[in-house]
Amino acid sequence: MAGFWTLEDAGRVLRRPTATDDKYSRGVVGIRTGSDAYPGAAVLGVEAAWRAGVGMVRYLGPQRAAHLVLARRPETVTADGRVQAWVIGSGTDAATRPHDETAALRGILSGPHPVVVDAGALDLARGAPAPRIVTPHAGEHARLRSALGLDPDVADSDDDRAAAAHETAAALGATVVLKGAVTIVAQPDGWTVRVAAGTPWLATAGTGDVLAGVIGAVVAGGEARREAGSGDAQRGPDVATGVWLHGRAATLAAAALGPAGGPITALDVAAALPKAVAE
Ligand code: AMP
Ligand code: MG
Repeated sequence: MAGFWTLEDAGRVLRRPTATDDKYSRGVVGIRTGSDAYPGAAVLGVEAAWRAGVGMVRYLGPQRAAHLVLARRPETVTADGRVQAWVIGSGTDAATRPHDETAALRGILSGPHPVVVDAGALDLARGAPAPRIVTPHAGEHARLRSALGLDPDVADSDDDRAAAAHETAAALGATVVLKGAVTIVAQPDGWTVRVAAGTPWLATAGTGDVLAGVIGAVVAGGEARREAGSGDAQRGPDVATGVWLHGRAATLAAAALGPAGGPITALDVAAALPKAVAE
């Protein structure tokens, strides 16, 4: 049975900025998410990445979404340039994706930097050379498994979900984040953990877009440390820490509304991320 990722585990991954840090050493995340139909997903992912404590967020998605991103976060950089990790797919639909957008996403997936692949971009994850972190919910996971020739029916127990997530990770050669009330993080090599820091109040639109941004931010920070010659060789711990921060932030945001919690929105989760980071 895969163990639970805890506050102590997350605390070993996250670093306080030091006197020698600059924005690049803290990590640069590139975000190419959102569409004309779902521009808000871009705002949510960008906001979450900033609030998770990254050094720089570049947003390189469609123009309408870019306007909304800049209106909320003028600190976001919309020029191309150095990036340590990418987030793609949130708020996009593979069926309506323009051809030039597909080409751009394939370009990102052919590069050397890790890519968080969410929602509408999951169909592009198979066979791509970049290190990939896929973030399906149960339905997306079933479709991904079908495309890989694996049985799409996965039972509800944590044991069955963990075994299936590992099987998907091995078939895809990518880290799998199987979302749910308990989220499974599985690497192709078998490293698998469960993250249960969240709350059922997370079952609301946009929280998955926030999660992708948080994971991108933590992975970008890990890449920056690896480039500097320190940090864990594995990405799984960075990914699990992103999932933990997202769940913990939601739990803190809901708890602030009373002992039984209360309705939170995806943006509330992003706003509570600094508290989870501080813990
Ligand atoms: P998505 O399905 O892409 O919108 O992502 C939803 C997010 O909310 C994921 O991080 C899930 O793990 C989380 N989530 C959804 N439902 C629940 C639930 N009942 N309890 C805890 N977390 C949930
Ligand atoms: Mg989603």
